Amino acid sequence: MGEVPLSHPRYNSLMGRELLTEAATDGLLADSALIAHGRGEAYDYLLGEATCESARAAIKQSALVMKHAKRCVISVNGNAVALAAADLIRCAAVLQCPIEINIYYRTPERMTALNSRLEKMRNEVSEGGAPTGWNGDWQTAVANVTILGIHPDSKIPNLEGPRANCCSDGILNADVIFVPLEDGDRCEALMKMGKKMIVVDLNPLSRTAKKATVTIVDELMRMAPILLSDLINEISNAPPEWDNKANLDDSLAVMLSQLGK
Ligand code: ATP
Ligand code: MG
Repeated sequence: MGEVPLSHPRYNSLMGRELLTEAATDGLLADSALIAHGRGEAYDYLLGEATCESARAAIKQSALVMKHAKRCVISVNGNAVALAAADLIRCAAVLQCPIEINIYYRTPERMTALNSRLEKMRNEVSEGGAPTGWNGDWQTAVANVTILGIHPDSKIPNLEGPRANCCSDGILNADVIFVPLEDGDRCEALMKMGKKMIVVDLNPLSRTAKKATVTIVDELMRMAPILLSDLINEISNAPPEWDNKANLDDSLAVMLSQLGK
């Protein structure tokens, strides 16, 4: 990103593209990953590339649900690793929960590449020091974050093919799953298992967005540090009632108001 100044109006968007194209070169992504990102970018344009009030509320609700979980897991695909690995590892360290690699187009090469990238990032996060407001032994907290997925021992019921593979220490037995950029079929299959699904999806009209327990309509790189801060600072009270449909409608209204301008 040498040539793009920080003041560039598209800086964050360009940085996201740069991270994804590098990740593609490094073998972390399926061919369709850049298309999925492009669909997200279009919706983000309509959000004014900012975290709207309804997304802010959804992030806070998500932090409460995750803190209140018996067994939380953070599920990542290639895009999530490319865009937000460091903050997602920090979130896992604060929650003391595992991260599971769970990809749609599963190949051994991509699983190994993603696992290595996450292990490298875990070292960097450990050495980078504790996030603001966090007290305790950060290096131990980060070392406790296990990276699952490469050796699946279970299957998500009612889901076809290799994308159903998962780990009993992670997704299979979790009660709360935080999963950025989830696919609609898998979201539905996991909801049917009785799990609480927290998703990040810029498209408020997607099947995932409509099916999840809590949908954060925001860009992953932008929302991850806010979630981290809420996980650190919010008190672990039981989460209040949540009307996900109403929250989605509010996000959609923000987008529609942009169109009217
Ligand atoms: P569904 O399977 O839920 O019906 P879909 O098939 O349209 O949705 P997928 O390709 O399965 O979409 O998933 C990608 C989703 O992730 C898209 O809805 C897109 O808007 C969203 N997305 C892509 N990049 C980002 C990002 N950086 N931050 C947040 N959301 C994103
Ligand atoms: Mg899909």
